[in-house]
Amino acid sequence: MTIAFLGLGNMGGPMAANLVKSGETVHGYDPAATARSEGVARFDSAIAAVAAADVVITMLPSGKHVLDCYREILPSARPGTLFVDCSTIDVADARQAAELVTAAGHRAVDAPVSGGVVGAEAGTLTFMVGGATEAFAAVEPFLAVLGARAIHCGASGAGQAAKICNNMILGVSMIAISEAFALGEELGLTHQALFDVASTASGQCWALTTNCPVPGPVPASPANREYSGGFASGLMLKDLRLAESAARDNDVATLLGTRAAELYAAFVERDGPGRDFSAIITAVRDGLLTKEPTA
Ligand code: NAD
Repeated sequence: MTIAFLGLGNMGGPMAANLVKSGETVHGYDPAATARSEGVARFDSAIAAVAAADVVITMLPSGKHVLDCYREILPSARPGTLFVDCSTIDVADARQAAELVTAAGHRAVDAPVSGGVVGAEAGTLTFMVGGATEAFAAVEPFLAVLGARAIHCGASGAGQAAKICNNMILGVSMIAISEAFALGEELGLTHQALFDVASTASGQCWALTTNCPVPGPVPASPANREYSGGFASGLMLKDLRLAESAARDNDVATLLGTRAAELYAAFVERDGPGRDFSAIITAVRDGLLTKEPTA
């Protein structure tokens, strides 16, 4: 079994390395000189990397990258190749990508991930998979190497749909938790007291109990290390915008999701995209987000 791995960045690099460690032959391609690829045989074009592959995994920045890449490589792929796109992209782009693949006589799944760079390195990612049942069964053994869980969410695009719906919940809930802590501070509540109540009551959620935006109550949360590591605010903004775009395309009123995208956009403009998304609490405290949206 030969796997072509296209996109050896922060996520793809360690994922490809884990496949090599598990004994797979991996043909990698990434145009960036900085790409990481321990053990991966590097090729100097995507076409060359996919020529002998049974499976093609992509981990690219956007839907445009995936569609452009597929258009370039599909004519060179062997018949029946399994295409697995792990990038986070627009649902409509994911469906279009799957159509291109199946029209060319191959099989496709979208398989975006959660778990971040730490999960990619440790092989503990969660995959949300969209595609035919047979294609899901074919990809499961590889996903078992790369992650701890793979959930078949439905037809093509369903993996991306699950990812952006989940992350819309996460973005909105992190803002809600941040507002609650900021209000609690003004009301004289200690962080620990609010945490002890909310984490065991109806305010309980992942943004509070695992990624708590204030230092102290959850020692492993990024707030304890100046919001370094964790899930970058720029990626949260990207996912909220994908959710917004899907909501617009499908005529669904996601008012809080849209507002969350505006708030993260203002925050990223002020502080840059790199800090953990729980640092949004600093913007809540500073009143940055009280401004009316400009667009
Ligand atoms: P990254 O920018 O580090 O890596 C993307 C890589 O793709 C780059 O090295 C780039 O040179 C390469 N690339 C661009 N066009 C290419 C092409 N045609 N062929 C081959 N390689 C090409 O980004 P990342 O953090 O690894 O994220 C990748 C995807 O995973 C994104 O869609 C992102 O939203 C998603 N994701 C990231 C995280 C995270 O924590 N970083 C978490 C979940 C999902």
